[in-house]
Amino acid sequence: MKPAPFDYIAPESLDEALAVLAQYGDEAKVIAGGQTLGPMLNMRVVTPTLLVDINRIEALQAQRRSDAGLALGALTRQGSLEDDGDLQRHQPLVAAAIPHIAHRAVRNRGTIGGSLSHADPAAEWGALVQALDATLVIARQGAAPRTLPASEFFQGLLTTALQPEELLLEVRLPAWPEGAGWSFREFSRRHGDFALAGVACRLVVDGASRCLDVRLGLIGGDDRPLRATSAEAVLRGEPASEALFREAAARAAAETEPMNDLHASADYRRHLVGVLVFDALMEAQGRCAPR
Ligand code: FAD
Repeated sequence: MKPAPFDYIAPESLDEALAVLAQYGDEAKVIAGGQTLGPMLNMRVVTPTLLVDINRIEALQAQRRSDAGLALGALTRQGSLEDDGDLQRHQPLVAAAIPHIAHRAVRNRGTIGGSLSHADPAAEWGALVQALDATLVIARQGAAPRTLPASEFFQGLLTTALQPEELLLEVRLPAWPEGAGWSFREFSRRHGDFALAGVACRLVVDGASRCLDVRLGLIGGDDRPLRATSAEAVLRGEPASEALFREAAARAAAETEPMNDLHASADYRRHLVGVLVFDALMEAQGRCAPR
């Protein structure tokens, strides 16, 4: 199929883009990498009056690394992170997750802002920002940018806190905690497919192997990216052990409300979450440098 007719504009600056979005509201649609929006336009799932191409806006491409962490402009391509030789040292969980996103050709165009704004519960970035305690920066015309924790950004299936006149500007990943272990696990039918379920795990233990801090972001656990908070609560302050990890994994599975669809039943996804969380905790513990 071909898209319904639309007008096209490619603003050179953020101010220009925000002014256009303020004027057109939900009649406009932002296009970044086009890897998701392209097919949606072709299938006429969306029929905007105006397509706002943000690819010329340099401010959305900036990346800043500081003691506070890593700030990634919304137009950061997934593939450019894959090519960043320092990423493994500064953000090992992101480095572990990126190769699971689609295929290299898609990652060359697909942006982190597009992935987060689309809010597919099967997308790797949703689980990452939950596990990394990321902050999302959002702009609209005539107001100072607002910031939201990842936990407040996702509001339902393919639904976020973004308003039609707003742009996602930046994703801020806090500095990697010293000595933290990590694991990224997912299950998909074929490499490059969207995952049926998955987990992004960050774990900090002390010298007595007690879990000081743990964060578990889940893929496929609900209609939106989910944080397994009750599993985290089981772990926090307790000595790490296989038995404890099994209990936490069971808790994580129990707190999911997965979707039933043609790819997998809710029960199967729930089972996968339990298996993957256990494996992830074991792997993350092995990578911890105790404090
Ligand atoms: P676009 O397609 O340009 O836009 C997506 C949506 O986000 C649109 O609604 C658009 O209006 C909005 N948007 C984009 N940028 C902004 C912004 N800055 N502010 C506000 N709104 C914005 N993804 C995965 O996570 N895992 C996978 O395994 C996976 N497999 C894929 C396989 C294939 C074959 C394909 C084609 C895609 C796959 N994807 C997968 C999706 C891919 O990662 C996309 O790149 C991503 O979902 C969207 O990024 P984009 O830059 O292409 O966004």
